[in-house]
Amino acid sequence: MEIKEAIRILELSELNSVEELKSQFYARAHELHPDKSDDPQANERFQELIAAYRVCLTNLSELFSHFDQVPSAVEEESVSAVIENLDDIFEDIFGFAKTGRVLGYREPQLVALTVEELCQGVSKEQKLTGYRSCPDCQGAGVPLGHSTKICTYCFGKGFTQKKNEQNARPKICQRCQGRGRMMSHACERCAGFGRLKEHKKYKINIPDFWVPGQVYTASGWDTKTQKPSELFLEIAVKDHPVFEIANHDLLCEYQHDFERHPEGRDVRVQTPMGIALFSIKANAKPKSIVRVAGLGRYTGKDHKARGDLVIVLKQRKHPWWQKVFKVLRRTNP
Ligand SMILES: [Zn+2]
Ligand SMILES: [Zn+2]
Repeated sequence: MEIKEAIRILELSELNSVEELKSQFYARAHELHPDKSDDPQANERFQELIAAYRVCLTNLSELFSHFDQVPSAVEEESVSAVIENLDDIFEDIFGFAKTGRVLGYREPQLVALTVEELCQGVSKEQKLTGYRSCPDCQGAGVPLGHSTKICTYCFGKGFTQKKNEQNARPKICQRCQGRGRMMSHACERCAGFGRLKEHKKYKINIPDFWVPGQVYTASGWDTKTQKPSELFLEIAVKDHPVFEIANHDLLCEYQHDFERHPEGRDVRVQTPMGIALFSIKANAKPKSIVRVAGLGRYTGKDHKARGDLVIVLKQRKHPWWQKVFKVLRRTNP
């Protein structure tokens, strides 16, 4: 696409800053969005608008010279971030223009945490999709005076999941389309889902006992308005050089010198849960497992119980020069 064509599509009449380009794009996006426009070719025109925006962003100097302007170095730098997040912007507009219509059941979103964050809990700010109750129907999904019935196919969950298939992804309920309810009249604003979908930056508090691989419901606070939304989070754990997490247990390896300490040894290790003391017994061998009860992660928010610290013993590897000294000591008593 030529820059002239892009300017025409964006309907740019003047340009002094990247901010102006951005707001003009937003304005045009709201006009052309397929959900808002009656144009039968709305979808194609919307895609064309995004392409035009991309052309402008990637040819900033050419674009500015068209309006007898020169972009500053700061502007050029800010643009690279915009290009990187173009898909996010698209999602922003999409979510907004859809007036929060939730299609299907609520998809959990992956939140990756470090071992330390999982052990100690963390407060995070992250861009996520949240759901807030529809103000028009107050979450009922139907206009005032109408009633709903629980969907008897999915028992109100909005999805079905085969029990015998391990890790089978849930399928959106065909009968209620994920609403979990059956109704004669649907609320127009939320299309009967009772909630509005928003993609925003949320502040979330992740407690110290959540388990990787599990899905949790959490409250997220919109960082701008401080209003709460419901979030569905699937917890993942990032790689750690020493520790691993298995539910509430903490796993690690320990390099033990079996030759030097044949009688066993008491060991102190620093874990993300603090200092841990454990004993290696005399009969221990490489690959032996030492399980220390109660030194793992907390199992609940009351902090009454903890999982275990599980240590796999390994033969300590000596640096080459220690071996040389050993040989020297033996040959020169
Ligand atoms: Zn509603
Ligand atoms: Zn259903």
